[in-house]
Amino acid sequence: MSDSQTPVEAYIGLGSNLDNPVANLHSAYQAICALEGVTSPVLSPLYGSKPVGPQDQPDYVNAVLRINTSLSAQQLLSELQQIENAHGRVRNIRWGARTLDLDILLFGKAIINDANLIVPHIEMANRGFVLYPLADIAPSDLQIPGQNSLAQLLAACPADGLHRIAE
Ligand code: ATP
Ligand code: MG
Ligand code: MG
Repeated sequence: MSDSQTPVEAYIGLGSNLDNPVANLHSAYQAICALEGVTSPVLSPLYGSKPVGPQDQPDYVNAVLRINTSLSAQQLLSELQQIENAHGRVRNIRWGARTLDLDILLFGKAIINDANLIVPHIEMANRGFVLYPLADIAPSDLQIPGQNSLAQLLAACPADGLHRIAE
């Protein structure tokens, strides 16, 4: 058993498709790094991707960030939502355009099924814009708790026009 003082390795998915997405992702990265209880950040390369859901919105810029954290998963979610709000996130249409989306993808080996937090992120296995940047920064033998290895998920997930973008 790990005790509550041992930092957990967590992965966060970042996305934006409004108001200079690249700048939004860099600013979110800095805000997460500045959180108390967050250390050892590693940001993946940035990727361009097609929107999930409504197609009448700009393409997205996505990345994945690895951190070590002494925060609980719920504390981390709350901090990420405050950072989303500080970046002008407005919640209206489901999967609609947004200045910033910060999702907890993995929280160590935890499987969480709270009303407001499901980890591993429920859609991550189906999303190239999550799996490809995750693979850039994760150990090659990463196991997704309760699911397959990252390598197996990647092999089954089309890249769907995903492309690395210049930063
Ligand atoms: P998707 O979940 O399909 O990526 P989304 O990111 O656009 O959609 P949001 O509007 O950002 O969805 O969040 C909706 C709710 O999802 C939040 O209020 C949050 O409580 C909940 N949620 C559940 N699991 C997670 C998670 N792993 N990370 C972030 N939010 C989560
Ligand atoms: Mg999301
Ligand atoms: Mg979200």
